[in-house]
Amino acid sequence: MRVKIERIQQNLENLACFGKLEGGGVSRLAFTREDQEARVYLEKALESEGLTVKVDAFGNMRARRQGKENLAPVMIGSHLDSVPQGGRFDGTVGVVAALEVIRVLNELKVETRRPVELINFAVEESGRFGVGTLGSKAMCGHLSVEKLKSYRDNRGVSLYEALKNFGLNPEALDTVRINPGEIYAFIETHIEQGRVLEAENIPIGIVTAIAAPTRLKVLVKGRADHSGATPMSLREDALTAASEIILGVEKIAASEAGPHTVGTVGYVRVSPGAMNVIPGLVEMGIDLRDIEKDSKDLAVTKVLALLKRVSQKRHVGIEYEILANEPPVALSPKMVGSLEKAARSLGYSYKLMPSGAGHDAMYMAELTQVGMIFIPSKEGISHNPAEYSSWEEIARGAELLLETVINLANETNQ
Ligand SMILES: [Zn+2]
Repeated sequence: MRVKIERIQQNLENLACFGKLEGGGVSRLAFTREDQEARVYLEKALESEGLTVKVDAFGNMRARRQGKENLAPVMIGSHLDSVPQGGRFDGTVGVVAALEVIRVLNELKVETRRPVELINFAVEESGRFGVGTLGSKAMCGHLSVEKLKSYRDNRGVSLYEALKNFGLNPEALDTVRINPGEIYAFIETHIEQGRVLEAENIPIGIVTAIAAPTRLKVLVKGRADHSGATPMSLREDALTAASEIILGVEKIAASEAGPHTVGTVGYVRVSPGAMNVIPGLVEMGIDLRDIEKDSKDLAVTKVLALLKRVSQKRHVGIEYEILANEPPVALSPKMVGSLEKAARSLGYSYKLMPSGAGHDAMYMAELTQVGMIFIPSKEGISHNPAEYSSWEEIARGAELLLETVINLANETNQ
């Protein structure tokens, strides 16, 4: 291997100090002091490699290693921010792998035709403002100054204010936008956040598509009556109706939509919530995901029909609101091919797989050809201090990134 495991480990351990939690893990929310410390660390590391860091108006950090020709760069990286009570690996692994690639290219004096650019996306996690992958959305032109003012953290600070407090210029949001063609290719290295690779004992995942969610908030309205005085035949129990919906969502996702459909009811709020009162109102959230749009649309249609059926059968009112309905993203077959070729040349076994979680790569796919490398996550744990991937596995992912970057950065056209 050309990448150095000790250096990767050292960087990950050093970065884990910023926002370090007592029992391991980190809390490094976007645009906080901890985030700033991690950014300064990265900037110093890049400067010591002779690169200059540029920060755009939204806080995305970019640093370019020049190529021999004035061509669009190959971009690599991920994010340094974390969820509250998060792990040391989510996002950071992709930034550290990219940094290692730059170091090895310098060490071995590799000259590439295209520049290679590292990126640390700002506000990837939704942990602070309730919405995520904002740095890449800004690059695609999907944000507006009004939206920046509307997103708030739990202390009421708007994203607009947070950007200003961080020394950035939210009014210059338009300057963050980049045009398709300005970047030749983007590759993100990330932990899998699931247990597929570990279960199958495969060291590398090559992502073919990123699943996207449709989210529904559902209100089931029954009647809150006395639990002793109301016979079973006269009840309008919102919770028993909600239970049918929960089991129905599971059945639809498991066997009635597509092979990759997943469906979850992640929360249920019951009121009045007393042991001796029949539940009169239930609020719940349904999250449906798929990598194929048709299958997801089918699942949504079936869930809506289920709501209607349960409402009629149980004499309860059911209202719903669609909170999000994002289309799944297929990653570039050419990038998948480039990653497969590099993996084969390194002798690494790999698995082609979808990503169930969202990433900046999703939005970058609007701008350029995108590839993603997955590294196994121990027991699939993520967004948790127990998150873990071994140094060896991370180094293997970085080596694959290096090999792929060298190939891509020497291509002249698509
Ligand atoms: Zn992440």
